[in-house]
Amino acid sequence: MAILPILEVPDPRLKTVSEPVTIFDEALQTLIADMFETMYEAPGIGLAAIQVGVPKRILVIDLQEPVEHNHDHGEHCNHDHEVIRDPRVFINPEILDPSKDLNIYSEGCLSVPEQYADVERPAAIRARWQDETGKQHEEEMEGLMATCLQHEMDHLEGILFIDHLSRLKRQMVLKKLNKYRKEAA
Ligand code: ZN
Repeated sequence: MAILPILEVPDPRLKTVSEPVTIFDEALQTLIADMFETMYEAPGIGLAAIQVGVPKRILVIDLQEPVEHNHDHGEHCNHDHEVIRDPRVFINPEILDPSKDLNIYSEGCLSVPEQYADVERPAAIRARWQDETGKQHEEEMEGLMATCLQHEMDHLEGILFIDHLSRLKRQMVLKKLNKYRKEAA
């Protein structure tokens, strides 16, 4: 496995429309394993293949939600919170029946590091996709999973979460990103 470099704005490759996957071979399995390793290391909860420069309709997601705690949260707690690993692969995903209800999440993206902004999307969707063996799946989703899948699917069309913002807000985020990069350099 390998950690792959993640493309960041304003890399023009992020605007690529990705191609469907038609061959489910060993090279695909390797790419998926590398994408998971890259996403966990970043760390992030989702990654599209185009973010590592591969224009194919492949997404990996793991929301890594915290394990429910037994101890009272009023207590001071300074140990690392464990997370539930739930790695999921979505190949050639489609959205069916997006709800009229919308949800707002403060979204971030590994290609727009350390920047967050509220984005409104359908609160519930039905999704259809293929897994790494080519088998088709369909599932209703809501909450963070629905938001995350829609965010990652945007990458397949060359769209970033900041493209959902007003021009003014987008410019503010990009300005903050430049400032962050200067400070981090
Ligand atoms: Zn993203």
